[in-house]
Amino acid sequence: METVFDKILSKEIPADIIYEDNICLAFKDINPQAPVHVLLIPKKRIATIQDATPNDKEILGHMSTKIPEIATGLGLAENGYRVVVNCKENGGQEVPHLHYHILGGRKLKWPPG
Ligand code: AMP
Repeated sequence: METVFDKILSKEIPADIIYEDNICLAFKDINPQAPVHVLLIPKKRIATIQDATPNDKEILGHMSTKIPEIATGLGLAENGYRVVVNCKENGGQEVPHLHYHILGGRKLKWPPG
């Protein structure tokens, strides 16, 4: 299913892109929930984390190691941050293209609502 993130990937709609390579793309969330709110997505269309398979190991491993690099670039390394993956309806996922929310710049509350 094509989503708004496919349009961002194809540059059909603009986004504030902060990192890109051949596997993933990171851009600022349009509706930030913290002073820093970035989304990291795979270029491959994987609808939810629940749809990830062993074939996606390389992509997911690559993205996991990009998170600290991106967080450092965003100035979040020292004080920390949160990485969130919402999955399907109960998880509050609105866009069915896997994405990691990287949130920081303030003390975040726990537990989530
Ligand atoms: P989720 O609810 O986990 O599916 O998160 C989807 C996120 O995508 C939300 O935080 C939205 O604010 C964000 N979003 C939706 N459309 C855009 C867009 N065009 N550019 C940047 N972020 C977007």
